[in-house]
Amino acid sequence: MANKHVLVLGAGQLARMMSLAGAPLNINISAFDVSSEKIVHPLTQNIIGHGLNNAIAKADVITAEFEHIPHSILDICQQSGKFRPTTQAIKAGGDRRIEKQLLDDAKVANAKYAVITNRAEFDDAITSVGLPMVLKTALGGYDGKGQWRLKSTTDIDATWSESQQSLSDTPHQAIVAEEFVPFQREVSLIGARRVNGEMAVYPLTENVHVDGVLSLSIAIDESELQQQAAKMFQAISDKLNYVGVLAIEFFDVNGKLLVNEIAPRVHNSGHWTQQGAEVCQFENHLRAVCDMPLGSTKAIRHAAMINILGQDTLPKEILAMPNCHIHWYGKEKRAGRKMGHINVCGNTQGELDKALKELVAILDESEFPELKQHINQR
Ligand code: AMP
Repeated sequence: MANKHVLVLGAGQLARMMSLAGAPLNINISAFDVSSEKIVHPLTQNIIGHGLNNAIAKADVITAEFEHIPHSILDICQQSGKFRPTTQAIKAGGDRRIEKQLLDDAKVANAKYAVITNRAEFDDAITSVGLPMVLKTALGGYDGKGQWRLKSTTDIDATWSESQQSLSDTPHQAIVAEEFVPFQREVSLIGARRVNGEMAVYPLTENVHVDGVLSLSIAIDESELQQQAAKMFQAISDKLNYVGVLAIEFFDVNGKLLVNEIAPRVHNSGHWTQQGAEVCQFENHLRAVCDMPLGSTKAIRHAAMINILGQDTLPKEILAMPNCHIHWYGKEKRAGRKMGHINVCGNTQGELDKALKELVAILDESEFPELKQHINQR
């Protein structure tokens, strides 16, 4: 099998983990740091090239590890004919207006919404969408940032002035007002699709967020929900003619799934696949974009993932725990920053739950807020 060279737009942990997963298949990764415009090695961050056009010329395939990429860069990549999934998919992931339209076009269930660019449209949305509602910036929102809740009519003016600030700060900005969904839990589905339409999805993952940021993901085995999610995955990925790994986040409302959002890339809630699945999401993304046969997405053991946020050390005992694997991202410490994750496994659900309890007993509670309580409730 010939070596393949994949250029990834973005030089963070997702490019790093693609690089680690690609090496055994002779797939080499270089990363385009969109903010510095340098070509870097995804593991060392050393500069290995200059200029996007040079990097495109050297690459067999171009892909992305995040969706907030200037359209001018996406367009250059698209023109090369090497870009996968599609620039349309990346744009849908980065702009909630395009994303909502896509979900409607694919006929998948999602929260009722309205697009707002001025006060009159805001007032109309209060009637058409109804209260309570969630306001989200169309561009640049992630991890719950750029969001406001509007619960009662008394807060209309205050919420409008707060959200209007973001409209005036960012060009082409708009707000997507969504009905508040009374969900019981959030789940996500990660899957891969090839050029020929062949697809493979992983087991659903249940996700726990703390302050809008993913804290804990646990793979689940619930066949009815899995079927609903897989059907929606097929509808969305076919609509986009998608190539690569796609993540879909859902609200579970009394056993009925509603799509919250999509991520046109490998996803934090799929990191458990590194230890819990036959072939992990990073390798399957590379296989799909390089048009190689997909690897099995079957779970090989019960697995969960805990995010490490804003800290660069952990108690050493964790390395001695047979069910735990630490993955650091080699990043400089900053408050709240995603620094790494811990994958926890068990041959049975009972073994996994026991390992999770042992782990949270060792972790510093102040560094992992609410985690202990979520795990002990299980
Ligand atoms: P998002 O960035 O859209 O994933 O939103 C961040 C978090 O806000 C989600 O993980 C949910 O917990 C919550 N959220 C987002 N949209 C809604 C909604 N329409 N109704 C209720 N909660 C929501």
